[in-house]
Amino acid sequence: MTGRRGALVRRWGGRAVGLTITAVGLYIVLPSLLTMFQAWPQLSTVDVPWFFVLLALQAGRLVSLWWLTKLALAPARVGWGTTATAQLAGSAAAKVVPGGGAVGGVVQARILIGAGQPSGTVASGLGAIALLQNAVLFLLPILTIPALLIGPPPAKQLQLGLVVSVVLATVIVTIGVTALTWPAVLRTTGHGIGRVVHVVRRRTTPESVATGLLTQRQRIAEGFHGRWLRAVFATAATRMFDYASLVAALVAFDVHARPSEVLLAFVVSQALAIVPITPGGVGFVDLGLTGMLVLIGVPTETAVIATLLYRLFSFWLPIPLGLFAWTGWRISRHYSRPMTERAGVDPTVPPSGTGCVECEASGGWWVHLRRCTQCGHVGCCDTSPMQHATAHWRESGHPVITSFEPGEDWFWDFTTESGFLGPTMCPATEHPLDQPAPGPAGRVPDDWRDHIHE
Ligand SMILES: [Zn+2]
Ligand SMILES: [Zn+2]
Repeated sequence: MTGRRGALVRRWGGRAVGLTITAVGLYIVLPSLLTMFQAWPQLSTVDVPWFFVLLALQAGRLVSLWWLTKLALAPARVGWGTTATAQLAGSAAAKVVPGGGAVGGVVQARILIGAGQPSGTVASGLGAIALLQNAVLFLLPILTIPALLIGPPPAKQLQLGLVVSVVLATVIVTIGVTALTWPAVLRTTGHGIGRVVHVVRRRTTPESVATGLLTQRQRIAEGFHGRWLRAVFATAATRMFDYASLVAALVAFDVHARPSEVLLAFVVSQALAIVPITPGGVGFVDLGLTGMLVLIGVPTETAVIATLLYRLFSFWLPIPLGLFAWTGWRISRHYSRPMTERAGVDPTVPPSGTGCVECEASGGWWVHLRRCTQCGHVGCCDTSPMQHATAHWRESGHPVITSFEPGEDWFWDFTTESGFLGPTMCPATEHPLDQPAPGPAGRVPDDWRDHIHE
């Protein structure tokens, strides 16, 4: 009896605590949130072109984010539409459901897995994205230190913030790629930070910080399968488009401030968004951002209205988009034809063999294997040197492949460029477990990494 009650408390207790914190949090921020929304009519004083600038910058942020997701999921390709739907729906869920961060992740993962992505890839991919984004966020304040030390630039021209965002993006990419390419750099940095932290916190040692950093690096590297130049670039772009939006919102109200200080305000508000007190940090982010802007010398009234303008585009606008995307996804799943009737899929045709047909004939090798769901042709993936699976589609017109790798069951339609959940194919649904990837044994050269397509 006690055991059952214990389980119940464990199951619902955490949720009750979460809901209480959310309720209290909303109660605290509601008055200031209402004050902010009362500033709404003042938005009509903004010159119309600024709305388009903000719209374009936020669109840039979203596209970079979708690109980043695609990079993390690359081994099993996923279309832009699915990636966008999953991200928009996930972020909308995170904002409307209490304790939303986790719910948002689940919604996003469910859509991606429903589109035929292996669940392991989705989990490690989304984890790597979060890690990389937070790493870049915490790198930003460090980058502003030189600017703050040097002192105020001659003219307090905030428009420069747009240039600053481009420069920062370049710096972030350089630092990020250096840290990911040469682990030794990260180890030395970790030791350095550890030594400083050790003074304040005895339990932290230089070695533990270095090991922690290297573990994170390993997770990011695995999540992105070595495509980190593009991954870091996409992450830098998401953050910098967002920062540029804030700058634009301020410039729209003729605010004069230092770009470096606005960057600090931006970082603080983004960090507040990670703290799960209210869904998506609503209220706390707005309060924090307004407060930071006042702190750097923006008049209170302008700080309130500029925050409202920035949040309108970065926070509120994507919510209806996400709900729309989610509804559309559910409807399309409901009405999509049963997969067995799908053109190009015949579950009764067995695979042609255990290796790529053309590679076996020519003595070549491959990275991963794909099975044509129409004639059973086994071909090599697009990472492989010869890309025979895609070549088979071009020659025969057979539009669908499924993975021939152990543990993977995704389907890919070349014509619609999208993945889907297919029927159970007749065996064998994977190559023999003792056959390595890349394979086959004995034919893969030592320098195979130099021969593959990324
Ligand atoms: Zn091949
Ligand atoms: Zn075929």
